[in-house]
Amino acid sequence: MTGSRPRRISILGATGSIGLSTLDIVAHHPELYSVEALTANGNVAQLAELARRFGAKLAVTADEARYADLKEALSGSGIEAAAGQQALCEAAAGTAEVVMSAIVGAAGLAPTMTAVKRGVVVALANKESLVCAGDLVTREVKRCGATLLPVDSEHNAIFQVLDREQASAVEKIILTASGGPFRTLDKTAMARVTPKQAVAHPNWDMGAKISVDSATMMNKGLELIEAHHLFAIPEGQIDILVHPQSVIHSLVVYCDGSYLAQLGAPDMRTPIAYALGWPQRISAPVERLDLAAVGRLDFESPDEERFPALRLARSALREGGSAPAILNAANEIAVKAFLEGRIGYLEIAELVERCLEANEEPAPASIQDVIALDQRAREHARRALPKVTAAT
Ligand code: NAD
Ligand code: MG
Repeated sequence: MTGSRPRRISILGATGSIGLSTLDIVAHHPELYSVEALTANGNVAQLAELARRFGAKLAVTADEARYADLKEALSGSGIEAAAGQQALCEAAAGTAEVVMSAIVGAAGLAPTMTAVKRGVVVALANKESLVCAGDLVTREVKRCGATLLPVDSEHNAIFQVLDREQASAVEKIILTASGGPFRTLDKTAMARVTPKQAVAHPNWDMGAKISVDSATMMNKGLELIEAHHLFAIPEGQIDILVHPQSVIHSLVVYCDGSYLAQLGAPDMRTPIAYALGWPQRISAPVERLDLAAVGRLDFESPDEERFPALRLARSALREGGSAPAILNAANEIAVKAFLEGRIGYLEIAELVERCLEANEEPAPASIQDVIALDQRAREHARRALPKVTAAT
């Protein structure tokens, strides 16, 4: 890549855990990338500071009420300020050659689709968009000639070791899971865990929502659906394996009995660097693995009785239609309610299950359908919340 001009990159969700790790890789390779647009939700002070530091052309807050504050924070910088849902999509529709999709939740779907439609490289961290609308997103990726590169560490690992020339030689893929902070707790102890304990992940430093998803193992359920869409592999050929050290990030099993895995320290800057550099490799300032110090790698089967989210996600994927979008919307509402102290940890999966059982929504046929379905599902889940609380 030496000698060529820097590639333009836009980062959706720049102030988050993935957004900041992406900017760290960009800062490590100033000759390779120039930042075009950065977006965030309400944290406009941090957004403006990042936009100034990285010389962005455009900074967008999703929150229209924060527009004046953002404009003020950027005054004299020459950086354009914008706000609202439309502006988020405009940030994805600019002239960037690489778009990092790192908004959390279904809120990332519309901007991600805007980038896909431009046929550029989309580095995808926002797994919820594939959970809600996997068939529609992958169809549009093909139609528009976009390149979808997985950032999620498990999917990035599979992407690195999957032989796409010999799809029929792939027997199955194995997604590894740390098991989260409550891996060894029984249900009685789980009923009492606090949001603070849930967001304290043993291996990874992540945003609050995905940390709670890891604690319920809904994260692995969402990743199962994500893997199905990214690699066009049937649900029955995707296994989940608990591996508490988070050193093996996932595996592909071939028909000759070979298991190919990708290993690394649990640091998202490795998969981010892989996606940003692809098809080449670029350096990442991450700690190297000291396997002798790690000493041993442990594995165990997931427990769907203590972690029902795994079973719910698998059955939503099998059912198809609107079920995965309902699963995701109900989970987003439940996680928010848990973080606000309104429901207990065990009630997260209970609420999701209740919403899936009540679901009569038809399969969405367009992204607009998915967005409308997501809104209705959130409304339904919000109405179901007090009942769950009253029941316990
Ligand atoms: P985070 O909460 O740290 O950051 C989320 C970002 O999205 C922030 O910039 C925030 O301002 C923005 N945002 C939040 N709500 C928004 C809204 N309604 N509209 C527009 N922007 C909004 O989250 P994160 O941990 O960086 O995760 C981002 C995505 O990456 C998630 O989909 C997550 O599942 C995925 N992911 C994260 C990790 C990780 O290590 N953090 C690993 C794998 C996948
Ligand atoms: Mg992951």
